[in-house]
Amino acid sequence: MSNVEKYFQDPHTMDISGLLKLIDNINFNVKDMVDCEYPRVRGKIEEPYEKYLERQKLQQKSRELEEVFREISSLFKGAIRWHCPGTMINVNPPANLGAIAISSYAHLFNPNFAQDMSTGGLALAELEVTKYLCDLAEINWKKAMGVFTFGGKGTNLYAIKIGLEKCMNNADDEGIKNNVFTITTEQGHPCHSEVCGWLGIGRKNSIAVPVDGDGIVIIEEAEKIIAKELEKGRRLACITINGATTIQMTIDPVKEIAQMRDRLVEKFQLDYQPHIHLDSVIGWVYLFFKNYDFIKNPLQIRQRALNKIKKMYNKISEVKYADSFSADFHKTGFCPYLSSIFVTKNREEIYKLGGSKVKTLEMSDLEYGNYSPFLYTLELSRSSSGPLAALVTLKSFGIEGFQEIIGELMNMGEYMKEKINEDEQYEVINGEDSDGFVTLFIIKPKGYTYTYDEIVYSKGMTKEDSEYLAKYNHNFYLYLLEKQMKRESTFAMDYSTGYRKNINGVRIGVLKAYPMSPFLHKEEVDSIVDELHRLKDEFDKVKDTYKPRKVPHKPRDFVFR
Ligand SMILES: *Cc1c(COP(=O)(O)O)cnc(C)c1O
Repeated sequence: MSNVEKYFQDPHTMDISGLLKLIDNINFNVKDMVDCEYPRVRGKIEEPYEKYLERQKLQQKSRELEEVFREISSLFKGAIRWHCPGTMINVNPPANLGAIAISSYAHLFNPNFAQDMSTGGLALAELEVTKYLCDLAEINWKKAMGVFTFGGKGTNLYAIKIGLEKCMNNADDEGIKNNVFTITTEQGHPCHSEVCGWLGIGRKNSIAVPVDGDGIVIIEEAEKIIAKELEKGRRLACITINGATTIQMTIDPVKEIAQMRDRLVEKFQLDYQPHIHLDSVIGWVYLFFKNYDFIKNPLQIRQRALNKIKKMYNKISEVKYADSFSADFHKTGFCPYLSSIFVTKNREEIYKLGGSKVKTLEMSDLEYGNYSPFLYTLELSRSSSGPLAALVTLKSFGIEGFQEIIGELMNMGEYMKEKINEDEQYEVINGEDSDGFVTLFIIKPKGYTYTYDEIVYSKGMTKEDSEYLAKYNHNFYLYLLEKQMKRESTFAMDYSTGYRKNINGVRIGVLKAYPMSPFLHKEEVDSIVDELHRLKDEFDKVKDTYKPRKVPHKPRDFVFR
């Protein structure tokens, strides 16, 4: 046996105990750094990265994996444990075990999803996930097409690339010759314009149309803005709208926007249809409530949460009026990174991305040996991890599993809002105007009587008063970070640019609790809120002199601008 054979699975056996032992060995090294009640692995990499890297030398000799794992395991220090109920930082889920298992195991076959031939039937996973999503979205899966790609950002890139082809035949071959623009909204994800940079359209040509107080696109305004650009002879590649934003969960009215597009096509006699993409990387998951019995409410979801879910479902169910949509399984789908899929209603649009030589295959043409996504996808070699993880998750959770997990997160989001609001030293600021499970709130010193609205709109308050409160909240956030580091807090919350500006145009940062753990239930929320009260009382004793000494990472900047 050569020296390196031991690094591979023995081809003469299907016994994988060696692999399982290796995983067990990694865990053996990591587990001593973990206290299961806390959101982070203990410790952190203390030295600056340059210092660390200077010490690292690639070694001449081969080494035992046990030794390598022992070393590597220290890199887990400070890692966030997303499955911990107290972890409430962002829309970053714990990955479910089935998804982890299938993507790890499949690596033994290292299937390249560039084409199906070498993957056996595994490449079907991509087609099967697409079919399920189309069924949920009520679009014809036989005419549609889905491709997994490198993230939610990638799905937006696909949409605009398709839009480019639609608004000027052959942009792919000849480059962008016309004056092109795209539309996003003021609430749209920054990547909507970033991908315009990547595509050579230019970020500046991504126009953000205004939204109303709920973050929803104002259609008359958008229509006027687009008309003005079309009048100049510019071509509109894509209208990207929101299918749930990260914090506010804003979903734009897809049907009305499609009608607006049709009116503009008619009015300007366009020889193409501007593409409409629904960025539903987060909101797709509400499609699982399609057949939920909102009257009998079998999961006994609390009324307030139930109303919000129903509202979200009704809005996202308009996905069928968009030309394309997307899903991030690595967000609300509880899969490992990366697992994003872009789905378009008209399969020809995706085949066209491969240039003029690629012929569109109908669903009825596809069979083992001719499914070759590399011909038209952005990637050539393609990972199996995303599609396999998504498929196993869909098949194992089922519709009910997703209803349960999202239902409970929504439940706990509402419950947490109620609990936090019980005490007048706290104020939840997204109770009514957000339909997701995130809680945004501020804390107030004892005896402080202004409401957030009064602060935001500076009613009877000076700028100094507002700034004092903003500083107080940012300091508390730093205090919580330090408590995390000292293991004196079992939860991890975040700090976020508030979403409303005051009349002087000032934005005030707020505290953010974004739960993602399926292990968060009423009991855990009770104990987290109790702990929050305790920590605030402690903080109030030192609030005017407090300076953090040790935090797990560079904190978010104070927002008051
Ligand atoms: C997260 C997110 C993106 C970007 O997705 P990545 O997977 O991080 O690339 C795009 N749009 C929305 C609405 C998002 O929430």
